[in-house]
Amino acid sequence: MKYESIIKILSLQYNIMSVDSSGNLLQQLNEIKKDSYQANERIVVSMPDISKLNDLQNIVNSVDISNFFVMVVSEDKRIVSEIERVTSEFSYDSVPFTAVLVDGDAYDIINITPKKTNHTTLETSVKNLNLPNEHFCVLPWVALEIQPNGHHAVCCLAEEHIKDEHGKMLSVTENSLDEVLNAESMKQLRRDFLAGKKPKTCNKCWRVEDSGGVSKRLNTLDKTFRYCQ
Ligand code: SF4
Repeated sequence: MKYESIIKILSLQYNIMSVDSSGNLLQQLNEIKKDSYQANERIVVSMPDISKLNDLQNIVNSVDISNFFVMVVSEDKRIVSEIERVTSEFSYDSVPFTAVLVDGDAYDIINITPKKTNHTTLETSVKNLNLPNEHFCVLPWVALEIQPNGHHAVCCLAEEHIKDEHGKMLSVTENSLDEVLNAESMKQLRRDFLAGKKPKTCNKCWRVEDSGGVSKRLNTLDKTFRYCQ
C-alpha cells in the first residue's frame, strides 16, 4: 500500500498533519508546530528509510512536540525496535512515537509501551555523581544549540537566547564559537549552576521536575553517569 493511501485511511480516524521524511524535517515540523494539539490530531511521518529516526527524534525534541502526537509510517519491520531505541537514547519524552507498519496492502498501528523510568533510581544515580549541588546541569559546559535563525541557546529547552554583556543576541553568522561559548549570559548561567540556583531560562526542566517527572537535565546527567562507568 502506498504511503499516501495509508495517510488517507488514517485521516478517517485522526486530524492529520503529514510530513515527508525525504524532505527537510526541521522545516516541516517547524511549520506545523503548535502550542497545543487536540486529542485526535497526529503528525504522520512517512519514513521508508528508518535511518532518519534519530534525526526525527532530535528535531521533535528541539521543536518541543510531544512524541504522543507523532506516528511514523514505514514498511521496515525494524520500525518498533528502532523507535524503542531512539526513545531510550535521545528522547526527552518517555512516550515513544506510534509505529504504523505497512505490509503489502495491510497495515498495523502499534502503540509502543513506554519503558518505565525509575525516578528514585535515577535521582540516586545522579546524586552519586558528586555534583556541586542538586540543581546542577552539565549542559552549559558541554552543549550549544544553534537555532534555525542562527541564534544560540544553551540547549533546545532553554527559554532565553545567548547574549553578550550589552544584551545583544549572538548568532552563528556574526560571532565566533569562542565568543558564543564565552558570552556573558553563558558565563552567568555557569555561575548560577555552580551556586545552586535554578536559572529562569531552564523553567521547562524545573516544571517537569516539580511535577515528579524526569527532566532533560536529569536524563543528561544520568546518561553521563552511565557512560562514565
Ligand atoms: S537545566 Fe534543562 S533547560 Fe537548562 S540547560 Fe540543563 S537541560 Fe537545558
